[in-house]
Amino acid sequence: MSTNLETRVKDFRNFVKKIASYNQALAVLHWDMRTQAPRKGMDARSEVIGALSAEQFKLATSKEMGAFLEELTDSATLASLDPITQKSVLECKKEYDRNKQIPAETYQEFVVLTSQAETVWEEAREKNDFAMFQPYLEKIVAFQLKFIEYWGTDGKNKYNTLLDLYEPGMTVDQLDSIFATLREKTVELVAAIAESPNKPDTSFLTKYFPAGEQEAFSRFVLERIGYDFQAGRMDRSVHPFCTSFNPGDVRITTRFDEHDFNNALFSCIHEAGHAMYEQNIDPALLFTPLCDGTSMGIHESQSRYWENMVGRSLPFWKGMHGELQKAFPTQFADVSVESFYRAINQVTPSFIRTESDEVTYNLHVMIRYEIEKGLINGTIQVADLPRIWNEKMEEYLGVVPPTDTLGVLQDVHWAGGSFGYFPTYSLGNVYAAQFAHVMQQEINGYEELIEKGDFAPIREWLKEKIHQYGKMKSPRELVEAITGEGTNATYLMDYLVKKYTAIYKL
Ligand code: ZN
Ligand code: ZN
Repeated sequence: MSTNLETRVKDFRNFVKKIASYNQALAVLHWDMRTQAPRKGMDARSEVIGALSAEQFKLATSKEMGAFLEELTDSATLASLDPITQKSVLECKKEYDRNKQIPAETYQEFVVLTSQAETVWEEAREKNDFAMFQPYLEKIVAFQLKFIEYWGTDGKNKYNTLLDLYEPGMTVDQLDSIFATLREKTVELVAAIAESPNKPDTSFLTKYFPAGEQEAFSRFVLERIGYDFQAGRMDRSVHPFCTSFNPGDVRITTRFDEHDFNNALFSCIHEAGHAMYEQNIDPALLFTPLCDGTSMGIHESQSRYWENMVGRSLPFWKGMHGELQKAFPTQFADVSVESFYRAINQVTPSFIRTESDEVTYNLHVMIRYEIEKGLINGTIQVADLPRIWNEKMEEYLGVVPPTDTLGVLQDVHWAGGSFGYFPTYSLGNVYAAQFAHVMQQEINGYEELIEKGDFAPIREWLKEKIHQYGKMKSPRELVEAITGEGTNATYLMDYLVKKYTAIYKL
């Protein structure tokens, strides 16, 4: 490498570090806003966040960035770069090309629209008034179509352009086949469960559980599975989330419902699954655009793996039953480990996605996926959404929400302008089952380790195969390297059928 090129690479890495520094600072401001900041300071804080975001956006789309990319993406030059710089260049180029297409004023309009829409959506949801939200949603869909024109399509399906934002490489063709598998087998399984006379008793889960005791137990469980509190912390917020500043500082939040044991604990395990991904990214990727999960789907595979495949498994609770009874002696005194395990895995068709069980969850996602695809391809109109939503709920889950508040108005995603995001929730479940299937073959005594509470071998496996890479490998590359095949929903359905056949004695 010539000294000239060496200097340019160094300058590029410093430039990228500056962008990453803005992002880290913004993440801290966001976290503080949602956990600690007093109400009266919110308006000023929003302005600060807006101003710093604009600076970050300017840097990422600047002439300076353009010049770096033009020089470093020359094929001979690109090939001569070290792997991390090479991948960073490509990642910056993707962002740069995407953002450069959209006129600044169009983007500005969209930001203003979605911020208004979120406020209107909140009120519409409260008042059960879809008509109030409808004109905003129509405009947001029109913006999506405009963006797709700027970004370009693969000539097959416009929705693919949106999917690529959250799950690079994923297409409607693949998703249609994944969801077809999930739908057919899930609807069958849900029906069989509904007819089973062997329903679990869940009454003990809604006894009184003081928040402080729940928090202590949650912390104990997170330490046991290996969330590193030296590289993170847990606070309270209205909606639980995980945020990463850098691998040495990945924070999670939770909230407690004193009459629902499941609520906080499993959401803590879920967020810790996200956090352990970020905590184990190779430190060499720090201050590059690669220091992040590779896709929303892979990220969700980590949270859902720990939450459901570990946290809601029988071996896990066999190992933890003594601790559970010690922590909640009055509530769980006469509850056997089998009864507890069956109770935390209760399946009931419900209206709200975020409160749904592991089996029906993908049906909720599927409804959103089909609607988004229809809106983007012009086969569904916004005005018809309440009716279409309820029809699909009836068809897939056999229940019809009595209000739009409990139906089409329940999620914030569309108000925020996120289209193409929902499918990654199901992809997370699908990937998690594929990874767990391989782990069972590759990790000696897999179930015994979970029962013993010895999670180091599982964490090491995840770090070696997934976490360390950050964005160095695409979701497809990861899945293929680990499983030797592509995305395959059969493993998830096999896992669910086996687990719930036992629980409901089908
Ligand atoms: Zn809420
Ligand atoms: Zn998640």
